[in-house]
Amino acid sequence: MKLIFSKNDFKYEIEGVMKLFIPATLFDIEYADAGFSFADIQGDYAFVRRADQNDRVLVYALCRLAGKTAHKRAFLQGNTRDLENECELALCKCLYKCLSRLTGKIPEWGVITGVRPVKQVNRLLSMGMTDDGIRAYMKERYLCSDKKTDIALMTAHTQKPLLDSLDERSFGLYISVPFCPTRCSYCSFVSQSVGSVRHLIPEYVRLLCEEIETTAALCEKIGIYPDSVYFGGGTPTTLSASQLSAVMDRIARCFDLSRVREYTVEAGRPDTITEEKLLAVKSGGATRVSINPQSLSDDVLKAIGRKHTVRQFLESYDLARKVGFECINTDIIAGLPADTEHGFENTVNTLIDKKAENITVHTLSIKRAARLNREGTGSALKNPAGAMVAYATDRLLASGYRPYYLYRQKNMLENQENIGWALSGKESLYNIYIMEEVQTIIALGAGGSTKLVDKKGGRLERVFNYKYPGEYITGFEEMIRRKGRIGDFYAKK
Ligand code: SF4
Repeated sequence: MKLIFSKNDFKYEIEGVMKLFIPATLFDIEYADAGFSFADIQGDYAFVRRADQNDRVLVYALCRLAGKTAHKRAFLQGNTRDLENECELALCKCLYKCLSRLTGKIPEWGVITGVRPVKQVNRLLSMGMTDDGIRAYMKERYLCSDKKTDIALMTAHTQKPLLDSLDERSFGLYISVPFCPTRCSYCSFVSQSVGSVRHLIPEYVRLLCEEIETTAALCEKIGIYPDSVYFGGGTPTTLSASQLSAVMDRIARCFDLSRVREYTVEAGRPDTITEEKLLAVKSGGATRVSINPQSLSDDVLKAIGRKHTVRQFLESYDLARKVGFECINTDIIAGLPADTEHGFENTVNTLIDKKAENITVHTLSIKRAARLNREGTGSALKNPAGAMVAYATDRLLASGYRPYYLYRQKNMLENQENIGWALSGKESLYNIYIMEEVQTIIALGAGGSTKLVDKKGGRLERVFNYKYPGEYITGFEEMIRRKGRIGDFYAKK
């Protein structure tokens, strides 16, 4: 399908709107120049034009799909504040309305294609706007449905006391362990299957402990302290119990953990979990573990290459309870290949019955789904992800869960979202603060990305660690030098 731009280059956002209606498509981009003629165009197209006229600007969208056409236009005053952005938004809305008329689809988030819609709602609430006012604003400005605004509002209200309790000298400590027992077919993380890199793990653990020590000394000097610790990756429980203890002991020895309110270890893959590891993690200080089934159907697990069974998940979950964990997160994904609405409903209901304190409902992204499809593992693109997410939302709300963080990615099936749900008082601070970009995250280990946040000064900077364990080991000295930028950032506060 052709996508034709005239007197504008709002390519990124316009393509984003196109994909809401016509997913998994590569558009043939053209710019309408002097000799351009519609008569030369064969087949489907979308045409988006901006025309500056004296004291006003016209934006116009024209689409042809399967022989039918629709067009829409809007005017903006030439002296409109932030004219470029307003033109872009107006053009996106015109295009959305044309495509909606031609396809019959009404994407529920409207023209919002960004990652953090709750951030916007939090901003409006802080300006004193009421919930009704926000609903009206989101509909008028972004064509967002009341249903999606309500979820964003609920999330914002859950977050409020936790955002208010944030101390600007605190930070979240992230420890990356980028190893997994095998690689899942939909994975987009830097994690490496342990088979080919197992020999690197002892040296990786040694250097990670060194990085912990150096960074802790730097943080003490600056006068900042961790209020949460998060082990992610990868699957941290790919490490042995003694390696996990070594890293956690080093953290406890080097950092002041007296004000830590939450300590999470991702034990994502049930096939890595043993009682010995869970005990090591618990005695190392963890208060929350994440055990992720993704689906409670053996057929689906097989289709996505998870290499563990439903039974293994249930046994690991019960083991975590036995060891004494009072907060367990479980990640699931709507729209996985080989899954069905009934299968997904069973997954949701079983986790609710198990009283998992956190249930995080992801939606498969189309890019990943396309890769899965190419590999012949199913037809995820046709999965009713919207209906699955709607079911999960209704059931979780009715069972006492509240949404506490929400984010969107490009190319999600049926333009849905990812939502973290929690029973009251069990919300993960780390997830909220990182998603709302209100707190510094100091990340250690391969693939770690430190995000320095100065909320008052409106500054945000990143310091990257090397991505893969091999580079992390060979480039360690250079990476430690980079960490010095954390001190520079805080010196300017
Ligand atoms: S467990 Fe997670 S990080 Fe590891 S391969 Fe699977 S999706 Fe990727």
